[in-house]
Amino acid sequence: MKDNKCFDVIIIGGGPAGIAAGLTLNSRNVSTVIVEANQDINKKLGECIPPNAYPLFQKMGLETLLTNEKHHLYYGNKSAWGNDLFQEKIFLFEKHNKGILLNRDFFENQMRDVSIQNQMNWLIGYTLHTIEKEGTITKVVLKSKANTMTLFCNYIIDATGRKASVCRKIGIEKKELDQLTSLNFKYKIKKPIPFFVYTASFENGWIYVSPSEESSITVMIFTDLDLIPSKDEEKNFILDTINNSQLAQEVFQSTLADEDIYDLKTRVANTTYLDKPYGENWVAIGDAAYSFDPLSSYGITSALAAGYYGGHALANTILKEEQALDVYHYIMENAFNNYKIQLQEQYTLENRWINSIFWKRRV
Ligand SMILES: Cc1cc2nc3c(=O)[nH]c(=O)nc-3n(C[C@H](O)[C@H](O)[C@H](O)COP(=O)(O)OP(=O)(O)OC[C@H]3O[C@@H](n4cnc5c(N)ncnc54)[C@H](O)[C@@H]3O)c2cc1C
Repeated sequence: MKDNKCFDVIIIGGGPAGIAAGLTLNSRNVSTVIVEANQDINKKLGECIPPNAYPLFQKMGLETLLTNEKHHLYYGNKSAWGNDLFQEKIFLFEKHNKGILLNRDFFENQMRDVSIQNQMNWLIGYTLHTIEKEGTITKVVLKSKANTMTLFCNYIIDATGRKASVCRKIGIEKKELDQLTSLNFKYKIKKPIPFFVYTASFENGWIYVSPSEESSITVMIFTDLDLIPSKDEEKNFILDTINNSQLAQEVFQSTLADEDIYDLKTRVANTTYLDKPYGENWVAIGDAAYSFDPLSSYGITSALAAGYYGGHALANTILKEEQALDVYHYIMENAFNNYKIQLQEQYTLENRWINSIFWKRRV
């Protein structure tokens, strides 16, 4: 790509939100480029797409991505929450009766492929360096390991995920509702487990387990940042938490073994939001605008929806429809407020440890 090129919109971040916005703007003949820092698809967390997300994928023409055999169907949730017994929620009799457990790296590649088939412009390996307003035009300086590139645009989209890099560069801070953090890992299994999503609460958080490949499962332990143990203590914390939970019997069917834990990582997973997800020359979408507690399994769907509605709102703004971004804000804020109510209701169902630090902060 040539230096000093001018686009209607520059999208920083090529995750689900950025690509969804790119596809939408492209379909409206708005000139766009997606700038993505990572050359390779980086191992992102988040894989669970609940059945009620299916209509959005259909609306965006992305439903065929979900039927690829690299993804797995799952048929319900099993949850020990509020008491020691597992409650089952089977999707069989619901309108959309299957959820999807994504192979996340493959999904990110599928999304990139769709955008390339739609002739979208990408600039891969570049990170946002500076943003400067020059009259009505915005100057964006990007850096790769070896190069600096300057581009110009009318609008810049922040699709950088939880980092919200564009917002930070222009001095807009996200608000945080909590400090939820995940300790996640893969666990080797000898026998495949049924295709359900399992959750169980414990004294200072909750645990998520889902089948992934035949020989391993995905496990995430969620607690608050100040309750995450030091690196030396992580494995003991994991063994202690899982072996004392209902999941030990229901899923693992034996005590957890230290040597079968691999790919151990810590990730921020808290709820955050912007007071207003747009300004004069910018719009924030996906996790950069609102990020969700993974208990909701809402992050990917919401990122796609924000890309879709935010993209249309921006295309309408370019066509001089003055209220278009207010409508985008209204839709996203309403969804976020509903999410907060449902999240609070779900946490309130657990009252076995009302004096523990984690639950006291939520109930
Ligand atoms: C532990 C955990 C579990 C989760 N589980 C689920 C789940 O089960 N279901 C679900 O739906 N969601 C889940 N999520 C949330 C989900 O992964 C996110 O909501 C989703 O990835 C948001 O998409 P996005 O496009 O907004 O951001 P991202 O997917 O984070 O994409 C942002 C992109 O921007 C790029 N980027 C960042 N900064 C720059 C920069 N300065 N310059 C250029 N590029 C940049 C990054 O490389 C990245 O590719 C989970 C999240 C966590 C942390």
